[in-house]
Amino acid sequence: MINPKVISRILANTDLKTKMRLAKVVPKLGKADEVTRCMLCPNMCLHVCPVFDAERRLTVSPSVKARLAYLGETDDAIYHCLPCDACKNACPMDISVNDNLRAFRGGELALKAIEKFEKSIKVQTEEREGRILYFPGCRTFESDLFDTTVEVLEKLGVDFALTNVDCCGMPYYELGLIDKFKEKIAKLRQAASRYEGVISNCPHCVHVMRENGIKAAHILAVLKPVKIGGDVSYHDPCILARKLDVVKEPRKLLAEMGFEVHEPVFSGKDTHCCGYGGVYRYVAPDMAEKVAERRRKHFDYEIVTACPSCKMALKGKDIIELMADVL
Ligand code: SF4
Ligand code: SF4
Repeated sequence: MINPKVISRILANTDLKTKMRLAKVVPKLGKADEVTRCMLCPNMCLHVCPVFDAERRLTVSPSVKARLAYLGETDDAIYHCLPCDACKNACPMDISVNDNLRAFRGGELALKAIEKFEKSIKVQTEEREGRILYFPGCRTFESDLFDTTVEVLEKLGVDFALTNVDCCGMPYYELGLIDKFKEKIAKLRQAASRYEGVISNCPHCVHVMRENGIKAAHILAVLKPVKIGGDVSYHDPCILARKLDVVKEPRKLLAEMGFEVHEPVFSGKDTHCCGYGGVYRYVAPDMAEKVAERRRKHFDYEIVTACPSCKMALKGKDIIELMADVL
């Protein structure tokens, strides 16, 4: 690991010439850990970071957040991350700032944010038996998608079970509250072990489950087209497109449903975050809303998506809701 003092000295003297040199050298630091490479980087992904775009202060820019974490500064900035992974998508070294910052979180701000999250969540728990487990995730309840999803799954003949486990632990994970996260995911793993697999409306839940050894898929995997027709603009949820690699599937489904699918500025893996993913909206709600407001301006037609958080932020519809209208 490179000495932090040396790095501080280099960065304190970062003029344009040094930045240009760093841009060439940093990708070659093969053996250095990701935080070190990121903090040395002259913010090469700054142009895609929605948090920087909304807050307009360098302290929350990708490489400065990495620098603060590395130097042991307890600045709140390390919590100002969506996490959208737009940085990773643009990074020449394939580094995710958020993935690296998680290990440095878990302080006072994490406890405050989790308190807000816990107060805001109203999960109804119900149990029933079936072949696969339907795990809605807390945001499906928050966005009023639960009853609609149950209705659509039943009408499509999907044999699904429900469990009284209410949380995959994502907010605890993102805030660095690891003990609590482990408790939550262990309960879910135990419940899931009785079924062939798990489906969820929430890309974040699916990602967290997969990372923790649970066989999970986004609910799109069990949907079947019903004829509707019209014009829609599709918004790619960051985690669905970038972490789960589900980009073609929703477009194919919408096309089979007779829709003309229009692309917004920034789509597919280059999508722009809606602002409501992760826990940023419990840390900086005004800024999360600013990110959402900016994203809403990118669409020409009714916004359709496949994530409860994106649906709320963009005031759009989930594909499930389009189906429920005609089933
Ligand atoms: S994520 Fe990559 S491009 Fe962005 S600051 Fe870190 S090293 Fe640089
Ligand atoms: S994950 Fe998103 S919000 Fe966080 S630093 Fe990367 S681009 Fe910015």
